[in-house]
Amino acid sequence: MKKPWEKISKTDWFDWQWQMRNRIRTLSRLARLMDVPLHRLAALRPVVEKHPVLITPYYWSLMKQGEGDDPLRRQCFPDARELEHPPGDSDDPLGESVHSPLPGLLHRYPDRCLILVTNRCAIHCRHCNRRRLWSQPAFSLSPGRIQALVKYVASDRNIREVILSGGDPLILHDEVIDHLLKSFRSVPHVEVLRIGSRVPSVMPMRITASLCRVLKRNRPLWVMTQFNHPRELTSESARACERILEAGVPVSNQSVLLRGINDSFETMRDLVHGLQRISVRPYYLFQCEPVKGTAHLRADASRGMDISEKLWETTAGICLPRFVIDRPGCPGKVLLQRIHGLPHG
Ligand SMILES: *Cc1c(COP(=O)(O)O)cnc(C)c1O
Ligand code: SF4
Repeated sequence: MKKPWEKISKTDWFDWQWQMRNRIRTLSRLARLMDVPLHRLAALRPVVEKHPVLITPYYWSLMKQGEGDDPLRRQCFPDARELEHPPGDSDDPLGESVHSPLPGLLHRYPDRCLILVTNRCAIHCRHCNRRRLWSQPAFSLSPGRIQALVKYVASDRNIREVILSGGDPLILHDEVIDHLLKSFRSVPHVEVLRIGSRVPSVMPMRITASLCRVLKRNRPLWVMTQFNHPRELTSESARACERILEAGVPVSNQSVLLRGINDSFETMRDLVHGLQRISVRPYYLFQCEPVKGTAHLRADASRGMDISEKLWETTAGICLPRFVIDRPGCPGKVLLQRIHGLPHG
């Protein structure tokens, strides 16, 4: 098997900027890494032209090479089926653009709002809800835009929580993250901050001591990450979560239910047990949204309900994520759960 990065020094490998610079973004690079002729990947050309491929060397190194159905590979490997769109699928099923009073801000629930601080990520997850943002020019917020967003938050006293999302906020530089957190923290009625980031699972070396100092001084802050498969729980990602926890910042996990990747009881049990071992609380398990290009990764909601029920029957309450779906017009995420009465007798 090819070990493409065996000549890389440890210093480079554990440098997140090196990981960012060396991400896989072309089919020819993929073909070389897989040791196949480029023409074998020809069917993927129209896919990556519309929906670019982006994979960190770290995440690539976790895949089992030569296995097309590897659950990690399928999360970031382009697939010709992404161009097939069943009726009903759309680019923005949650109508996010409609709930955006200002560019870069989503305010769907009264007491919390979400800020899209960048449209860039460490990797492109093929199941992403916001994959429509990938082909837009890279943006991050200018000081003027941040000011306008802070003004909006300050003008609505119902908002007690600001969530930095994207894209992935943790690919920004420490000073930028610090500035964003401080800016929203400065609003007196904002009680809590949150960051949604997949970095702990796909580029854990980003969680540096200096980033953790930034997180620490902006508490109360909650980090929501995304592990979808137990094999993503490596010693590096465990260490990344531990560092965030040591900064006094709780880490919760939001998985997406993905067909053939984690839609089995055994995989989900191993995932939630593994998360509990590294003190990360399973928070949500999301039903995959009807986003164009994700149909082949979407599992039936009934499968998610079966898995949730079996988890509830066999494991600790602290390990149970809430299986939810996001629905436009609903006041919060909608719980997908079979109704249980009390046992008879
Ligand atoms: C999911 C989401 C939130 C956060 O919801 P929680 O249930 O509090 O995790 C906030 N704003 C928007 C727009 C969301 O989609
Ligand atoms: S890290 Fe999040 S926002 Fe970025 S591609 Fe993956 S799911 Fe989408």
